[in-house]
Amino acid sequence: MKKSFIETKPESHFPIQNLPYGIFKVTGQRPRVGTAIGDYVLDLSLIEQAGLLDGTGVEGKNIFSSPSLNPFMALGRSVWSSVRSKLQYLLDENTSILRDDNNFRVQAFHRMEDVTMLLPAEIGDYTDFYASKEHATNVGTMFRGKDNALMPNWTHLPIGYHGRASSIVPSGTPVRRPLGQRKPKDSDYPVFGPCTQLDFELEIGWFIGPGNNLGEPIPVQQAEDHVFGLVLVNDWSARDIQAWEYQPLGPFLAKNFATSISPWVLPLEALEPFRTAGPKQEPEPLPYLQQGKNGSFTINLEVYLTPENTGKETRITKTNFNYMYWSIAQQVAHHTITGCNIRPGDMQASGTISGPHREERGSMLELSWRGTQPVQLNGGGERSWIEDGDTLTISGWCQGDGYRIGFGEVSGQILPAHSETNVTGNEAAVKI
Ligand code: CA
Repeated sequence: MKKSFIETKPESHFPIQNLPYGIFKVTGQRPRVGTAIGDYVLDLSLIEQAGLLDGTGVEGKNIFSSPSLNPFMALGRSVWSSVRSKLQYLLDENTSILRDDNNFRVQAFHRMEDVTMLLPAEIGDYTDFYASKEHATNVGTMFRGKDNALMPNWTHLPIGYHGRASSIVPSGTPVRRPLGQRKPKDSDYPVFGPCTQLDFELEIGWFIGPGNNLGEPIPVQQAEDHVFGLVLVNDWSARDIQAWEYQPLGPFLAKNFATSISPWVLPLEALEPFRTAGPKQEPEPLPYLQQGKNGSFTINLEVYLTPENTGKETRITKTNFNYMYWSIAQQVAHHTITGCNIRPGDMQASGTISGPHREERGSMLELSWRGTQPVQLNGGGERSWIEDGDTLTISGWCQGDGYRIGFGEVSGQILPAHSETNVTGNEAAVKI
């Protein structure tokens, strides 16, 4: 098995087999591109400037001094693959170039705790799908009853909506509970105030590399050439706001206040050993959605909730990405079949990842069955929804033979809502 001179433990998310890309910042310096190896971040701008990536297709471009991955994402699969091979060579235990150059190593390697991770890309557009049959069935059952759970279109096309790119934040960013309208069951009128049913959604997102020209769809067989890599996503959701606003056009304010992502983007190439078939698709999709190869990946996913007062974490979800019904390639093909153009740095996400068992549900809505079956917490207490001060953390990894390819985590703590009068500036307006 390939090993680096930077030692990694078997449970480390960042062995030489991974080499994800991210944007890091050291105090007093400009943000730039790095890769994660063990407990370190390797400054790729220095590797590039030293000429060590010459011959890969990035030379002369200063691509890793950029404060976003967009320019690198735009270069496409053959350049990504060459850079990745070169980095694996440079970090190999048998390659002396970096291993034996102490002066260079001191400058180029930073301990992870000494850097701040930023958003990996300037995200132009964000689209969120709804690709888990279990999730769609659970939500449909709760909102419309068992007989009408799955809408007739669901098994024919990947359902999605255009999300909000401006409020995507990196892991560690606190999230403020939103204010909004909700309509209590026993009332004819809506009320205004802090969200009372705050939720998370466990998802996987992918960043788009090269885009397509307006008017030219991306065929499903070529769709993965447009996918740079994957991140963990928490699509924070205000269920009470959503229930009142979602008809007839779908979620709006219930989803636009924050979406958290993990900072390291895992190259699709790193995930190849974990490629697998998704669930059987019945009925057979229309020809433009027939991928013709295994389109899913086996990725272990866990969600932890940690209340501020006890500080004790509880694992509330344990599931897998390979439950997802629609594949990444099918979703990219469907997104662009109209000729809609997608661009480098765009983010798309899978939708909530739920499995068939209770502990595999990827949202509080499903875990607590809309508040009727609260989740018991280690250290006492229970949760139907997320409370102020709670920290929600998602972790994900692929388990290889003696190594892991991991995402690290995406984490966020909930802050109390703003005072209603401060926000509206009008005390009367609060009492709608
Ligand atoms: Ca979602």
